[in-house]
Amino acid sequence: MDTTPLPPITAIRDMRIDTRLVRGGTRRSPNRETCEALYLTSGFVYPDAESAEAAFAGPEEGWIYTRFGNPTVAMLEDRLRQLEEAPAARTTATGMAAVFAALMASVKSGDRVVASRALFGSCHYVVTRILPRFGVETRLVDPGDLDQWRDALRHGAACVLFETPSNPMLDLVDVRAVADLAHAAGARVIVDNVFATPIEQRPLKLGADVVVYSATKHIDGQGRCLGGAVLADERFVIDALQPFLRHTGPTLSPFNAWVLLKGLETLGLRMERHARSAGRIAAFLADHPKIASVRYPGLDSHPQRALARRQMRRGGGMLAIEVAGGKRGAFRFANGLRLADISPNLGDAKTLLAHPATTTHANVDAAERKRLGIADGSLRLSIGLEDADDLLADMEQALARV
Ligand SMILES: *Cc1c(COP(=O)(O)O)cnc(C)c1O
Repeated sequence: MDTTPLPPITAIRDMRIDTRLVRGGTRRSPNRETCEALYLTSGFVYPDAESAEAAFAGPEEGWIYTRFGNPTVAMLEDRLRQLEEAPAARTTATGMAAVFAALMASVKSGDRVVASRALFGSCHYVVTRILPRFGVETRLVDPGDLDQWRDALRHGAACVLFETPSNPMLDLVDVRAVADLAHAAGARVIVDNVFATPIEQRPLKLGADVVVYSATKHIDGQGRCLGGAVLADERFVIDALQPFLRHTGPTLSPFNAWVLLKGLETLGLRMERHARSAGRIAAFLADHPKIASVRYPGLDSHPQRALARRQMRRGGGMLAIEVAGGKRGAFRFANGLRLADISPNLGDAKTLLAHPATTTHANVDAAERKRLGIADGSLRLSIGLEDADDLLADMEQALARV
């Protein structure tokens, strides 16, 4: 058997996005496998003590231990980096590990963080409850109000954190405008791009410094495993993020990295379907008498539609609706659906729904929920890959019971 390792396919990074999704980062072993190899191993061995010495001396001299690096995980990081045209990428065990690591690599005691108040629940907990224990102060601002961002950044900040579109109400943040304000204040801009995905929106191109993902969502896209990713410039990754990850250990399992590599292969195809179906469903629900309102960035009625057009390719696969009749109406609709599962996950092949007021945002007090636009009748829908006509028919029959 020929045991010469094949060279990495470097030219792929200059090709179009769907090619990069399928082939980016692939490094074949001497066995010349078709599918990316799964290196499910915690450590690596050396032929002699001198080789071990060399491996520990130079970080790029071969694999050492999976907390430091692993060939399957590295293929995923390379594919993500090429997909987003980012200088560097690192992965983590979950999306929250990615958010936390990006923050911890950016702040020290005495610093200030300015964050959107429309944050995923655990991100909100990290910036308002955990960071203050270490002397990091957080100011929250309304996502769409540039005056509030400007005011909060007036006295400088170490970093800015926001989601756009936000979970669950699909509020947008003007990435370029906030990045300009943040940079003038000396702050690093961290964008949680989970709802948009790298297919629909590229925050690094709009001025962000760091992009974080819960790969659990659309990147896996089939509800199988957790994962996270951080994409940023090489200096931040090598000097600040990588040492934090290597020494604190929120390492992505090589098995999950392999699942996520396979997920990326179909991400472009899936987002096309998610976005097309979500657009049709949003339009249908917007016209329905039993739906009080629909929030979808691809719909002309979205209050920030012009911004959506500027910074997003399409509207994505997520929408928020308010069912008439408050909580009772929302529950009747949710319970009447046959093709939407009630689940806190999102970005799945299966259509999923959540009632934020009683689940993901049950711990947020009523006044803050109101401020976030979360009504008792609000539902978050993650549109899946089922046939859109079947989904529409299912929604029609469920609405008849409201
Ligand atoms: C799910 C999610 C996270 C956290 O990701 P996990 O993989 O569950 O840790 C962070 N931000 C947003 C917007 C999310 O939807």
